[in-house]
Amino acid sequence: MTAEGKTAGQSLPISVRNVVKAYGPLRALDDMSIDVRAGEFMTLLGPSGSGKTTLLMALAGFVSPESGSIRFGGQEMVTVPPHKRGVGMVFQSYALFPFMSVEENVAYPLKIRRVSAADQKARVEAALELVQLGGYGGRRVHQLSGGQMQRVALARAMVFEPRIILMDEPLSALDKKLREQMQIELKALHRKLDATIVYVTHDQREALTMSDRIAVINQGRIAQLDTPEALYRRPKSLFVADFIGESVVLPVVLHDGAATLNGCKLKTTSSFGSAEGPYHLVIRPELLELSPDSSDGLMNDLSGEVREVIYQGDSALVLVRVGVDQEISLRVPASRAGSASIPDIAQRISLGLHAEDTIIVPETAL
Ligand code: ADP
Ligand code: MG
Repeated sequence: MTAEGKTAGQSLPISVRNVVKAYGPLRALDDMSIDVRAGEFMTLLGPSGSGKTTLLMALAGFVSPESGSIRFGGQEMVTVPPHKRGVGMVFQSYALFPFMSVEENVAYPLKIRRVSAADQKARVEAALELVQLGGYGGRRVHQLSGGQMQRVALARAMVFEPRIILMDEPLSALDKKLREQMQIELKALHRKLDATIVYVTHDQREALTMSDRIAVINQGRIAQLDTPEALYRRPKSLFVADFIGESVVLPVVLHDGAATLNGCKLKTTSSFGSAEGPYHLVIRPELLELSPDSSDGLMNDLSGEVREVIYQGDSALVLVRVGVDQEISLRVPASRAGSASIPDIAQRISLGLHAEDTIIVPETAL
């Protein structure tokens, strides 16, 4: 490591091309291609069984694909055994050696790489400092809390300064508060390390918090790969829109190249028309405007009748019936005392949805 504690220019890009991994008739990785930039924090996000772990294991070398290519930098890895790929790994189940000390656990990757004892000691200490466990080297692993064990696992994955670090749901065994704290720490850690991180989670909020980019995975394929903001604001399919963030979904009818809702043409900046099958309007509740400026030519007007108001402390959830049988919800911030921004039940209200926030998507983009 350099004086600033940052490893010197080591991170590598990852390029996965047309990788297939089948278990009998099931394609866990179905012609998977993905590019991860050098030094990027890339998250693989998807439902259980979508192929996230299989992809990570293929990167690590524990799963051999039937076909396709995996390159680190320019080098083909498919035939390189796991211990020669130079990747650090962290799992949900910390996979520590329970009867060794913290120090011995963290030193293990250095020991098998035949690093000198003096060097081992210095590097282990530096790694423990990085995960805020300085001075814990002598402790036994079974004396540690879950959060501390996960930090030891992190230190062990980083101690040999790998150019690529793979993490498979590393925080899912921790309680919510500790998990959120560790998310912020991991992100800070990534800034200090010059390593490419591929991080697996099924928790969309965790993915949005931590990632430079997110690959949403569905049935062994990439449904969409984008920045957190782009995924949220411009999902390309109902699958992605549903998986990330809160949304209300209404079916729309495509007519003469325009999307219509209850017979009214919707203004939208979404492009559509290529995929087959039904299309949907995805509404993010916080983007709906109450009593919009009707002179704004880029507003869609969704008028309706308030059916229910649910007070939730910082905000109220207002359910509005639009059209004949469609219900949408919007979030109205609780305002200062005296101001009347929260509408009443049975009131008719007008809702605005800006063309740029009017997301029209097909069911799936696969
Ligand atoms: P995820 O990590 O996204 O939950 P996995 O990559 O573990 O998903 O699994 C993807 C699919 O491959 C699942 O349907 C799973 O049942 C199947 N699978 C994974 N590993 C094996 C295996 N060793 N043998 C048979 N099927 C497997
Ligand atoms: Mg998994």
